[in-house]
Amino acid sequence: MTTTTEFDTIAAISTPPGEGGIAIIRVSGDEVFDVVEPLFRGKDLRQVAANTINYGHIIDPDNQNEVVDEVMVSVYRAPHTYTREDVVEINCHGGLLSTNRILQLTLSHGARMAEPGEFTKRAFLNGRLDLTQAESVMDLIRAKTDRSMKVALNQLDGNLSHLIRNLRQDILDVLAQVEVNIDYPEYDDAEVMTTKLLMEKAQEVKGQITQLLATAKEGKILRDGLATAIVGRPNVGKSSLLNHLLHEDKAIVTDVPGTTRDSIEEYVNVKNVPLKLVDTAGIRETADKVEKIGVDRAKKAIQTADLILMVLNASEPLSAEDQELLEATKGSQRIVILNKTDLPIQLDMAQLTKLVPDAKIIQTAVTADQGLDELETTISNMFFNEGIDRNNSVMVTNSRQIGLLHQANDALDDVMSGIAAGMPVDLVQIDMTRTWSLLGEITGDSYQDELIDQLFSQFCLGK
Ligand code: GDP
Ligand code: ZN
Repeated sequence: MTTTTEFDTIAAISTPPGEGGIAIIRVSGDEVFDVVEPLFRGKDLRQVAANTINYGHIIDPDNQNEVVDEVMVSVYRAPHTYTREDVVEINCHGGLLSTNRILQLTLSHGARMAEPGEFTKRAFLNGRLDLTQAESVMDLIRAKTDRSMKVALNQLDGNLSHLIRNLRQDILDVLAQVEVNIDYPEYDDAEVMTTKLLMEKAQEVKGQITQLLATAKEGKILRDGLATAIVGRPNVGKSSLLNHLLHEDKAIVTDVPGTTRDSIEEYVNVKNVPLKLVDTAGIRETADKVEKIGVDRAKKAIQTADLILMVLNASEPLSAEDQELLEATKGSQRIVILNKTDLPIQLDMAQLTKLVPDAKIIQTAVTADQGLDELETTISNMFFNEGIDRNNSVMVTNSRQIGLLHQANDALDDVMSGIAAGMPVDLVQIDMTRTWSLLGEITGDSYQDELIDQLFSQFCLGK
């Protein structure tokens, strides 16, 4: 697929929202020059060479050619661009007003506002990226730690696609072989051979899919972050812990394009596990007014969290409220943090271990910087399976891909149980073909026609 589909011309601000040193308005499509030319005072952009950056001014032709901003305009020509269309990028000074005004000018001169991800979608539709690569572009933008970045880059390189394509090719080969066997039934044991082939291939592919799915839990955490709630009654040290986690350049505040301001999420990087902190506002509030924290609020956070950091004050006996929170967090993945261990211990350890026999208990003195490294290691070990070689292995991180892998796995189960039940080969074949299709949906290149073509091209046996 190398042909470019024709689309209308789209525009968007492609730098992060907010005030910055520089902002870029990206315009892509067949009519790019019709849109930008009337707005640009400088060289004739239609005449300049590809991949050049050109100095000039953006003017407002509807307002007596008023100069809007001094700009550098990059010109890229199809098909050697991100979208495979003609692309112009206007680098302007980054003030919110002038950036928006330039965008508005492109819109009033023939461009349409791009939808989120639309440039990447075009790259896919125009055959420059496959689906997993397109998805990894989004992941890269959102990557929260070095490790999630590495996984996304790996995927952008096409490593996942490559693996999936190999599996699909294997399936095609075996299906072609099955066709041949069916067409030459004069071979005595054709039927037996055929089911044996199918069975072996199904097992082999299933093994690989199982391996991929084993990376999914971790991959999803890398991608989305681990929703983490810090809970505990007032004054046990929650804010201090939060601040420790947020410091050391670990805080990652993301503002995912397309989401509203109030849903900005706070992430911290704990030994490469991105923690997405839940309800930190609640913790900060109680830092100001030392009032009752509201166990109800904590309970709500507990429900949405993947991990609970349950903080206790070791320098006081366990209170009724502590016990209530320990009870409320019982069903969750949790770490009990016994804080203020630098002070004389008043908490009854025997009582605590009896209350939480299965919980991990870490002793800390947050303000004295004690026990925090152990806490971080514990978190990391809890969620990252040491068996996976993350630097080299292909991981799946994306729910869509994970869902399709599960479906492909089910289809393979049907292949195997069909063979075991002595089903006719042509029925088993259908399930195998379904596996092939489902895997193709992962990369976005599943077309039934393609199967037909490929099968055909593989057995030129003169019929
Ligand atoms: P929160 O109400 O649970 O958020 O608790 P804070 O983090 O606001 O801490 C309450 C008080 O305990 C503050 O004065 C902290 O400085 C202090 N504190 C927190 N952690 C420790 C610790 O490990 N040891 C000691 N001695 N004091 C601590
Ligand atoms: Zn506090």
